[in-house]
Parts: sequence; C-alpha cells; structure tokens
Amino acid sequence: MGSEAHRQLHVFFFPFMAPGHIIPTIDIARLFSARGTKSTIITTPLNALHFADNISRDKQSGLDIDVQVIPFPAKEAGLPEGCESINSITSPDMVIKFFKAVELLQQPFDMLLEKHRPDCVVADMFVPWTTDVAKKYGIPRLVFHGTSYFSLCVSENITRYAPQEKVMSDSEIFVVPGLPDQIEMTKSQLPNCGNRDSYGFSERQEKIRDSEVKSFGVLVNSFTELEPAYADFYTKELGRRAWDIGPVSLCNRNLIDKAQRGKKASIDEHFCLNWLDSKDTDSVLYVSFGSTASFCTAQLLEIAMGLEASNVPFIWVIRRLHNKEENNFLPEGFEERMQGKGLVIRDWAPQVLILEHPAVGGFMTHCGWNSTLEGISAGVPLITWPVFAEQFNNEKLITQVLKIGIKAGNEVWNSWIEPQDVSVTKDRVEDVVTQLMGNGEEAENRRKRASKLGKTAKKAVEKGGSSYNNLSALIEEIRLHSQNI
Ligand code: UDP
Repeated sequence: MGSEAHRQLHVFFFPFMAPGHIIPTIDIARLFSARGTKSTIITTPLNALHFADNISRDKQSGLDIDVQVIPFPAKEAGLPEGCESINSITSPDMVIKFFKAVELLQQPFDMLLEKHRPDCVVADMFVPWTTDVAKKYGIPRLVFHGTSYFSLCVSENITRYAPQEKVMSDSEIFVVPGLPDQIEMTKSQLPNCGNRDSYGFSERQEKIRDSEVKSFGVLVNSFTELEPAYADFYTKELGRRAWDIGPVSLCNRNLIDKAQRGKKASIDEHFCLNWLDSKDTDSVLYVSFGSTASFCTAQLLEIAMGLEASNVPFIWVIRRLHNKEENNFLPEGFEERMQGKGLVIRDWAPQVLILEHPAVGGFMTHCGWNSTLEGISAGVPLITWPVFAEQFNNEKLITQVLKIGIKAGNEVWNSWIEPQDVSVTKDRVEDVVTQLMGNGEEAENRRKRASKLGKTAKKAVEKGGSSYNNLSALIEEIRLHSQNI
C-alpha cells in the first residue's frame, strides 16, 4: 500500500447552532477521531464554550480533535449580541434573523475549507450551501439532519404526495402514502400547515432537499436494527446514500462526559445519582422536553398536578420560561410535598446519566430525536409529547411502529417560542404516567420491547456491530474518494 493509504484523514464537522444539533455532531466527531481521523469542529465562540472541557479531555486521552471558532454575525443580522443559539431566541422575527446570520457564515466557512482542504465535510441540514462550497474544492459533503430514517421518509413522502391537501380539516386523519407501514397523521401535526410558515420553513426545506440530493450522502444517528424497513426505503426507494452510525450518545462512556454532555448540568451529578440510588429499579419517570421547547405556566401547572396525583417518583427538568420574569409557577408547596419523591431540575439535566440509571423506568419526552434515541438506548418505554420540528414524526415511530410508547395527547404543532394553551390536562398526565409505569400486561410488554431495543442499540455500536461497521465502511469510502481526486 502506498503512503496515501496510511495518510490520516481530516474531517470537518459543522453543526447548526442548537444544542440538539451540536451535541450529536460532537459525538460523531469523537467517533471519527476514535477511528484515527483528525476531526475539526467548526462553531461560534459561545457554543464552543459549552464543550471546551469535553474536547480538552478528549485531546488528553489521545484523540486528534480540535475546534475552529468563527465569529457569529449576530449584530450584522439584527440580533442582540450573544444570541448564538436557536434556544436563545425569544420572538418569531428573531428566527428569520438567526437564519440570516447563519447564511453569513458561508464566507468564513469557505476560507477555512480553502486553507485546510479536509477530506470530507459533515455539515448540518441547516447549512445547505456547504454542499456547493465543498464541491468547489472537490471535497465531499455529508448531510447530518439529526433525525431518524423514519422521519426523513415521512417528510419526503408528505412533500411528494401532499396527503394533507386532501383532508377537510386540521384534525382529520390521513395516511402517509407509500411507506412500509400505515402511518397516520393529521394536518395539525405538520410544521408548514396553515399560517404557520412564518419562519420561512418551505423555502428552507427546498434548499435542504436540493443540497441533500447533490451531496455525497447522509449521516444518520440511528442503527439499522431499529428501523430496517425505513433505512431500506430511504436508500432504495428514495435513492439516498446513507450511513447509520448511532446511537452516537453511547460514545460517552465515563461519568464526567455523561454529566457534562451539552453543557454543565445545573445539578451535581453525584447528588442526582444518590437520589436515584435510593429508588427501586424501574420506578422513576424522567420528564424532559429537550433544550428548546417551552410551555406556558398553565401547562406547567397541569404537569405538576398530574405528576403529583400519579404518585410515581419523578425527575422533572424545567427550562426557564421565555419572556417571563417570575419563575414561581409550581403549585403552592409543590417542591416541599415532593421532597424525596420528585426531583425538579431547573435548566439543564445530565440526561444520559439519568436515563441509564436502573431506577429510571420511563421517559416523558417531547420526541426530539436525540432524546428519543437516548431513551431507546437506555431501554425505557416512553410517553410521547411532541411539540414542534419533526417531533410528531418521531412520535409515530415510537407509538405506531416500535410500540414502545404511549401518547400524552398533544395533537397540535406548537410554536416553541410562544407556547400556547394547555394541550394535556392534569388528569391525562396522571393517566398516562400510571399506565406507562404500571404493571398491567400492556405496560409489561411495552417494557420488554423497549428493553430489547436498548440491548440491540448497545450492540450496534460495539466492535463488529452494524453502526460500528457502517462507520468503518464510510471512512474507507472517504479515503477512496480522497485517493481518486
Ligand atoms: N439535554 C440534556 N439535558 C437537558 C436537556 C437536553 O442533556 O436538560 C440533551 C439531550 O440529552 C439531547 C439534547 O440535549 O441530547 C436535546 O436534543 P433533542 O433532539 O432531544 O431535542 P431538542 O433540544 O433539539 O428539541
């Protein structure tokens, strides 16, 4: 073999500035480095701060991984200084400005590519222009959507066949045509229906689709055994090249990496683990709605009352409310009454650490794909409460295909900036929590299916597992591509 075959590959990783995109992309960069490539993560100053410690630890342990910081043009796009993440947006007009700022990163990104000439670029779906910029230098670009094969297939077939245009109302059920299973949805669960396209969704979607088709392929945080029919459909029917290499969260193997994933948790991890140690196996429900979704005070009250009434021990992560001064939204005396029974974490929880604890027996989730897959990897059944983005698609995978979850009952895609009314009442919260955590036959079967999937997920990333092998194959393809140009 010539020296080219032994040359170290260099891969650029360019995540969109949102925790749900940055977190898995960093895991992917670490996975690549663990296989001997040099990984460079491109991000902006404030985002880099959140994972600087993790990267230094990686470097100390011998991984060739680095961060290249480029300024975020917040001011130029009309955003307040320091607004560098989609989850610091507080009004709808800021969304458009945020995407404008991201567009402005094209030139600095181009300059970095010209200077470093990496062998491959893994870039987020929300920076579709990276396909063309990379092509200029003969560099292949891989797209990272951050969602499941299932969701990609559902979205594509909704775009192709527009079944939502044939129903009479927002709540009438339609079947998404052409998929391996009978997947039922309603118009109210779609992001781009009615007057909700104020964030420029459709136009952006077209650019994303176009850049995906022209790219080298798609990197998927999933594993083949989880959704084989959809992995097949995506590649064979929809004609995309794709590599599933997940669940990528499983690359966090030590306590500190798990505790600080995304950002430093707002609770001491030892306190949290001790609290869980004091609980019975599978007895605790973990409740979290991700890094971005927020609820109105009235909805938070319903959740609190429902959790209390269920009598099930819980850990509930509550993000600070947007545009609200007061943080005093829990029922009178709630935290005192819940002492020892329920743990409220404000802002940021060490999610993977919690989910993996044997005391955790269920997860109420907003169905963000990372959370969904982290729940699946931990082998726990889910209560699905989708809010926005493609979360309703993920809910269908969980409830209609994998059958490892039950619906909380929210049926309407909600703006994540201006949460609206109560969509799930206290009684419904109590009901789904008792169903999921109970001992009935259905609950047991659900638990068994979830547990089996958790074991399969772990195998997929071990040496010789499907995701492990897919990553090996992808690295080989990138090498071949580099040798041939
Ligand atoms: N996360 C976390 N602690 C929190 C909230 C979120 O570690 O308190 C992590 C979670 O583990 C996941 C990511 O943030 O990896 C959220 O991504 P997801 O796709 O679930 O939802 P999004 O935040 O994008 O809506």
